[in-house]
Amino acid sequence: MLELLVPSWMPHAERQQWAEKMSRRLERRMERSRPSDQRLMERARTLNDRHFAGRLRWTSIGYAEMAHTWGSCTFTVGAIRIAKRAAALPDWVLDYLLVHELAHLEHSEHAAAFHELESRYPLAERAKGYLMALDAAALESS
Ligand SMILES: [Zn+2]
Repeated sequence: MLELLVPSWMPHAERQQWAEKMSRRLERRMERSRPSDQRLMERARTLNDRHFAGRLRWTSIGYAEMAHTWGSCTFTVGAIRIAKRAAALPDWVLDYLLVHELAHLEHSEHAAAFHELESRYPLAERAKGYLMALDAAALESS
């Protein structure tokens, strides 16, 4: 059930249209922030093609409940997990998390070769800053 406040000056016909428009917009937003493994897999495939010439291979990618980290990569089996709460992040930040874990498929350590791979994503530095700020805010409010 969705309740919307409409300005009182708005004619009835317009109110209806406005309400429909707003509820569609809200639905789309909720759709985007719902953890969908399918969406995650599609994004990973696109990122692999775009930044790694499609050469990375993994066995599974999906969301998982993680309270203290944003993602993990089990290097040996090629399994990537992204924190469920990351589904609500903007696409470009979520993409960074995927790129980070994808890069771990080739390098388990955060060494120079790893950073070279990760920095192929043009917004990597900006996304790192975004996540750092989020983590800092979460720490303050807990
Ligand atoms: Zn890492």
